[in-house]
Amino acid sequence: MNTINNYDFKDKKVLVRVDFNVPLNANFEITDDTRIRATIPTIQKLREEGAAVILMSHLGRPKNGPEDKFSLKHVVADLSEKLGTEVQFADDCIGKQAGEKAAALKSGEVLLLENLRFYKEETAGDVAFAKKLSGLADVYVNDAFGTAHRAHASTAVIARFFPNAKMFGYVMGNELKSINKVLKEGKKPFTAILGGAKVSGKIEIINNLLDKVDNLIIGGGMMFTFIKAKGGKIGSSLVEDDLIETARKAMNKAEELGVNLYIPQDAVIADKFANDANQKCRPSNEIPDGWMGLDIGVEASETFRKVIESSSTILWNGPMGVFEMDNFAEGTIDVAQAIARATAKGAFSLVGGGDSVAAVNKYHLQDKVSYVSTGGGAMLEYIEGKTLPGVAAIEE
Ligand code: AMP
Repeated sequence: MNTINNYDFKDKKVLVRVDFNVPLNANFEITDDTRIRATIPTIQKLREEGAAVILMSHLGRPKNGPEDKFSLKHVVADLSEKLGTEVQFADDCIGKQAGEKAAALKSGEVLLLENLRFYKEETAGDVAFAKKLSGLADVYVNDAFGTAHRAHASTAVIARFFPNAKMFGYVMGNELKSINKVLKEGKKPFTAILGGAKVSGKIEIINNLLDKVDNLIIGGGMMFTFIKAKGGKIGSSLVEDDLIETARKAMNKAEELGVNLYIPQDAVIADKFANDANQKCRPSNEIPDGWMGLDIGVEASETFRKVIESSSTILWNGPMGVFEMDNFAEGTIDVAQAIARATAKGAFSLVGGGDSVAAVNKYHLQDKVSYVSTGGGAMLEYIEGKTLPGVAAIEE
């Protein structure tokens, strides 16, 4: 892997694509700095090696050019504090000022450019725009795993202007290493746990994982499409009728391949979609009309716990129920804790995808799993077996 460990950065201008797309509150304060914290080791390494570091990122989804609420100037103070140095700021990512500030930047100094997405050329993958950005530096580092599945100007197109000086930062390197460790070198038994609302968007992952895993656990809203496909009564639970045939095919494929497919035998059902609904635990294929399944049941939790705790490699994406409501969070908590226990016993566990990461953080288990992926969409596409443009551009 082409990383920043094997390059002489002394007196080089290094342009780093980072992911500083952090949530801001009404006072423009950062409410979750995970993404900024993640990139600090990369930036410090480059500074220590004598590079002048130019950072570029997107923030939010500006529609028509510059907008104050999407300005990256809001992260300068926090970044300066974390790096222990005054970070300079250019209020445009290309143009005269950015060029002058980049040219004057000295070894060890850091310059942050304004939001790339103030130009529609960024998401369009515009070559001329990428070329202008590339003119600021001698070396290109991509450390934005969260946007690696996008062929944008700064994440992929730009790499062609650095044929002999393009590489991955530590965030990218660690993400790829962790996912490869699971997909390519995972010790058996390998268990994947998939949950969340819908089958759509996850079906390609299911198909790709069936070739690799020993156990596939399905929970969350998506379980009911499988239960209906098996002829069960699911009441008014979430279902995707157009994917029933797809679910049936996946179940057949699992059987052919000898993969143990675990679909919850029971569910916590509710008479409305609310935390204060009446609730009871029932077999998941006997849900009365007017009731809906909002979590996996106690027996399913117990089955899943045993499978997870006897696994050596674990991949988890998506909650087991509507865990945002405390009364339907039990299944997700049980699974998260079982993963933590398996990890303590030596298993390698990878958690990814917005909601399972939120769950792991909510129950304070982030340090008890092996790796928490920062890039939900990118991780899922990588697991699906797709080539990520941001990765390919460096490896080509
Ligand atoms: P996804 O974005 O597909 O990973 O879905 C995550 C969402 O699925 C979370 O907001 C959960 O509340 C929701 N979810 C999980 N289980 C269920 C369920 N049984 N019924 C409806 N929504 C669910």
